This record gives sequence, C-alpha cells and structure tokens, in this order.
Amino acid sequence: MLALASVKTRPVFWGVTGGLKLLWYVLAVLSVVVFLYGAARPFAKYRHGRGGSWPPAHELPGRLWRALLVVLSHRTIRRRDGLAGVGHMLVFYGWVVLFAGTVVLGIDTDITHPLFGVNYFKGNFYLGYKEVLNLLGTALVVGLVVLMVRRGLVRPRKLSYVRPDRAPGEPGFDRRVYRVGDWFFVGTLLVIACTGFLLEGVRIAMSHPGYGGTQFGGWVLAQALSGVSYGALADLRHALWWFHGLLAISFVASIPYTKATHMLESFLALALRDEQAGRRLPAIPPERAQLPAGYGALQDFSPLHLLQLDACTKCGKCHDACPANATGRPLSPRDVILELREQQNHAAQAAGIGGVLGGLLGREDDAHFSTPVIGTDGVRIETIWSCMQCNACVEACPVGIEQAPIINQLRRRAVEDGELDANLQATLEVIHKSGNSFGENRRRRGRWTRELEFAVKDARKEPVELLWFVGDYASFDPRSQRVTQALARLLHHAGVDFGILYDGEHNAGNDVRRAGEEGLFEALAEDNIETLSGCEFERIVTTDPHSLNTLRNEYPELGGSWRITHHSELLLELIEAGRLELEGRLGYRVTYHDPCHLGRMNGEYEAPREILRSLGCTLVEMPRNRDNSFCCGAGGGRIWIPDTPGCERPSENRIREAVALGELDYFVVACPKDVTMYEDAIKTSGNAERIALRELTELVEQACVGLHEAVAAG
Ligand code: SF4
Ligand code: SF4
Repeated sequence: MLALASVKTRPVFWGVTGGLKLLWYVLAVLSVVVFLYGAARPFAKYRHGRGGSWPPAHELPGRLWRALLVVLSHRTIRRRDGLAGVGHMLVFYGWVVLFAGTVVLGIDTDITHPLFGVNYFKGNFYLGYKEVLNLLGTALVVGLVVLMVRRGLVRPRKLSYVRPDRAPGEPGFDRRVYRVGDWFFVGTLLVIACTGFLLEGVRIAMSHPGYGGTQFGGWVLAQALSGVSYGALADLRHALWWFHGLLAISFVASIPYTKATHMLESFLALALRDEQAGRRLPAIPPERAQLPAGYGALQDFSPLHLLQLDACTKCGKCHDACPANATGRPLSPRDVILELREQQNHAAQAAGIGGVLGGLLGREDDAHFSTPVIGTDGVRIETIWSCMQCNACVEACPVGIEQAPIINQLRRRAVEDGELDANLQATLEVIHKSGNSFGENRRRRGRWTRELEFAVKDARKEPVELLWFVGDYASFDPRSQRVTQALARLLHHAGVDFGILYDGEHNAGNDVRRAGEEGLFEALAEDNIETLSGCEFERIVTTDPHSLNTLRNEYPELGGSWRITHHSELLLELIEAGRLELEGRLGYRVTYHDPCHLGRMNGEYEAPREILRSLGCTLVEMPRNRDNSFCCGAGGGRIWIPDTPGCERPSENRIREAVALGELDYFVVACPKDVTMYEDAIKTSGNAERIALRELTELVEQACVGLHEAVAAG
C-alpha cells in the first residue's frame, strides 16, 4: 500500500503505464484542437454580418473588465430569479475552480516538474489545494442539484420552450431537442463532479482511510469501500480514472458545440453589448444607404448581433418579461433569437468546413447567408409586429442580447417591403404629411393654449428659459390637453419663463423609428433639430417620455444635443424650491405606473414617487414596478395598430394588477399615451367603479396653493 499520507501529495498517473500515458496525452491534445476549432468557427459566421461593425478595439480592455465584474458578481443572473442565481453561482465557481485546479496540477505534472525539477504539488500547497477543490467541488454538485430541481420540479414558465408563434404539430413547436440538450449539459457536469469524488474515495480507501479535512465526500465513499480488497480497489480506480478523465476532456472539447458554449459566447456578448441598446437605435450606416433597410437576411445583420444569436443561454428571462408574450401574442423575444440562431447554424452547416476556413481566412461567400429570415418558416411577420419596443427584454437579459433592436431591424425591412398593418401605414403617411399622428393641421398644434388665462410664448420668436416640447398626444388629444393646460398653469403660477414651438414642432419620431420607418424618423428629427437650433433656451421639458427618449438619446447623433427634462422632474424641482406650494395632504391611496420610456429606458423612477409623497398620498407599488414595469401596449407604434383579436390588452392586464392591490383611489401616470391607454382600459376591463386615472400633474394642480384663485382671477 502506498503511504500517501506521509508524502502529502497524490500521484497523477498512478498505475497508468507508458503507452496508456501517451494515449492520454494524444487524446488531451486532440480535445484542445477540437475545442479551438469550435471556438474559432463562429467567427467565420460573424464575418458575414455586414450591417455594422464591432465596438472599437480601444474599448476592449474596459469592456472585458466590466463584463468580468458582472460575471463574478452574477448580478444579472440573480436578478428577479434568486434560485437560478444561487444555483448558477455555485456551478460557476465550482466549475471555474475545478478547471483552474486541473490546470495548476497540469503545469506541475507536465512543465515545472519534468522540465525544471520544480514540484510544488505537495506538502501544504497540496493540502490547501485539496481543501479548496473539495469545497468548490461540493458547491458544483449542490448547484447542479439546485438547477436540476428547478428545471425538473419547480418548472418555471420561462423554461418551457413551447413557441407562441407556432401551432401544435408545426416543426419546432415544443423544441424538445433543447430540453434534451439542457439535461445532457447539467447531467454531464454532475457525472464529472461525482466521479471526481468517487475517485477520491477509492484513493483514500487504498491509501489512508482517515478523515482528511474537507475530504468529506471522498471520505464517506472510502468508508463504504472499507471492506473491498486492495486489488479490486486498484482496478476500480483505474477504470474510474479513465472514465472521469475521458469525460472531462470530451466535455472540454464539446464546449463550443453544445449549451456549454455560453461560457464563451455569453461573456463576449456581455463585454461587447451596446449600453444604450433600445433607447438609442442605430442609424443606417452611410455605406448601406443604397441597400434595403434593416435585416432581411443574416448578411444584413451586424456581426455583434450575429454573435448575440449564439450567446443566448435560453434562460427565458426576456420571455417572462415580455408583455406581448404575457398577453398571448405570437412573440417571445427568446424564440426570435433562437429562430435566427437556428437559421444561422443552418447557413454555417450548408457552407461546410470550407466555408468556415474560408471565412476565418477572410474569403467570404455569402450565398448561404442571403436567405430571407422573415417568413412562414422563419420569424413570422405577425411576431415582428406584436412587439411594443418596450425594452423589457433587453433590460432583463443577463448576457446583454439586444432583442428589441434586432426586432426593430426586422421591422425596417418589413416596412421597406410593405409588410405592415394598413392602419400603421396610414398613420405613417399622415405623420409624413401633417407632422403629427392625429393628421391635424399643423397650425392647430398650439390651440390648447387659447383656453388659458395667459399667453404662452412662442419660443421661436423670443428667448425662454424653458422650451416645452409638447408632443402629439399632449397637444391634440382632448383628455391629455387638460393635463397640458394644467401644467401650463402650474408653470405660469411658479413664474417659470417658458414657451412652445407652436406649428414649428413636429412629431418627435420616437415611435416612428420604433415602427421601423427610419427615413421618416430622420426627416422629422431633422425638422425639429433645425427649429430647435433657431431658438434660445436653457433646457427642454416634455411631458411625453417617448419624445424625451429620442430627444435625449437619439437627436445628439443627428446634431441636436440639449438638456432634456421630464415634467415630473421639473415639478419636483419647483416644489422643492418652494415655487409651487402644496396644501395639506391629499391623503389618496394610489399606485404609480412607470412608463417604459421614462423608467426602464431613462432611469427616472424617483421624481414621480417623491411628488406623490409630497402630496401626502400613500403609494402602493404594483408587483411589476420600476425597471420591471409592464408596458401599456402603446409603444413601438402599437398604438396605431388595432388590437390583436383574441389577445388580452396589456393595458387591461396592468389595470387588473393595480386593482388586485385592494382599494385604491387613483392609478397615477406620467405619460400622455398612458392617459389614453389606461383611461380606456379602466372602462373596458370593467373597473370604472373601482379605480380612476390621474396624471401626476393633475394631482399637483389639485394641491397647489393659490393656483385656483389665480385661475379664477384670470
Ligand atoms: S421590446 Fe417588449 S414587447 Fe418587444 S420583444 Fe421585447 S419585451 Fe417583448
Ligand atoms: S435572449 Fe437573453 S434573456 Fe432571453 S433567453 Fe436568451 S439569454 Fe435569456
């Protein structure tokens, strides 16, 4: 019997003879070659993407560092799914440390010891190594069990791969093959980890059966094997060593070809992601100006978007967050990504190994990447138009995939091909002609000011402190006009020097762009930028989060860069500065809906809540609040498209969520489109007796000291 306890080390090739040792090295090298080919292969695919470029190289170190911090903290994985976060974290750290431990051992065995006579794998180093690896190996097993329990017993909705855009019986309806792949992945890792412990147990049973610190897994197994003869143990160890080793190197070789590829691709996607994804959609690159707009085939994609298709881990967080999916529409952002990934893989397979090598060497043959991606067998047109461009998917994705911008690119091509809803097309034409989505004569844009007791300045004619970009709904919709007038009175009462653009204002273009009409967006933005550039003001205020988003995030690329404020922020400033004095406490019990374009896309959550507190209202939060807010259904041009028959309206779904909170006085909003959507939904969902809608400004107006007297005095 080998007295390993006195040596304080363990032999690596214990009982493995020269020929077998050579075979082991050949297989290990082969696995690395297969791994490297698999890891390089996707980059041949990404070279076909002509619709954009990679982020600049000088940003790479910073991007990699930030991605590493996200991975180490696991914050994007833990968010809104603690069980998955804990399970994945245990697996991640267990796998990383065991892999690193194998590399450390390999360096000693194959490099420092034979070449330089330096053998560090012994003594206290070995004991510490053993403790750490046993602990993290246990973490790996526990983590895998957690993930298996979640997948097999808890079975969250997001892990069902049933496609909402396919009917039962259609190819790929339930994507069973993905489930098999997922189980194979976790199962293989579990077998590798368990055979590692088993190997340790046999080794302890053969050498020194005493308890050795955190060797508890192996020690327990060693006790179970205490009656087995040394020869039988040696045979068992030999078989296990080969089984465990071959499985481990096969797993390494398979990483780029299986679900495990997310270890590589997801990290890269996280590092290279566009931090502004969704809130700033990309302009058409000048070199593609003469080509059809958007994504019609894989060769139209940016290389980063092609990489993102591979990076999806199928976690389903976007599937869960998507309001279109939650209300029964044929859209799951995850399934759009997976559908496109499958098409990409088919194209790469059709190109064959010659295509891969040619691609890696820079000889691109796009033949297989020019097949249309939109169609009955691809991403369906009704899927593309179900999207509300609310960005919930982008915000939820733990690995930085840009589902909404990709869908927007598909829309650009659909618009180009005339594949859009007739109502939407009519509205876009109306906007093109009149500059607003109501089709009103542009001279009527400022008519709401006529009912005020004071004149509102024309910011084109005289300097103002605050330029108010009013937006279409706040200018033309009769219900929202009341809010607009209330805000004007509050600003006047507070002594704010403000003005509007009257007929010089055009639709800001945010939703036109998200509907895929890039050319019209550019025309609208250029008109607005030209008008705004001729005015003198300190900052812009708007009540419309959609306008705010495009003015703040998209106009700068077109030459219009100003400070943009939402009216909730402005009202809070005026209240805090004492320029608007609020009386007593309103005492209402209210809930507040975060508009997607204000909260999730522009990070403004506190100002409306602060105002509600100042008003003495009790704020009861809906379960889906702040960055997890649920879209009203108006975004991405959906407000101009009729409801999908047989599907719940997202606005009604949201009102039901609010009503479930118990007795409430008001459903408070801070967006003119929300005023329209929710006022309607309160009625159509049958809740008119239970809850009423108020725009934030209306509550401030109600509580403002002296305002009503001033209005009465004219
Ligand atoms: S943007 Fe919103 S509606 Fe569109 S896919 Fe993403 S989550 Fe769904
Ligand atoms: S796109 Fe992102 S959030 Fe959606 S399933 Fe894939 S990894 Fe998860």
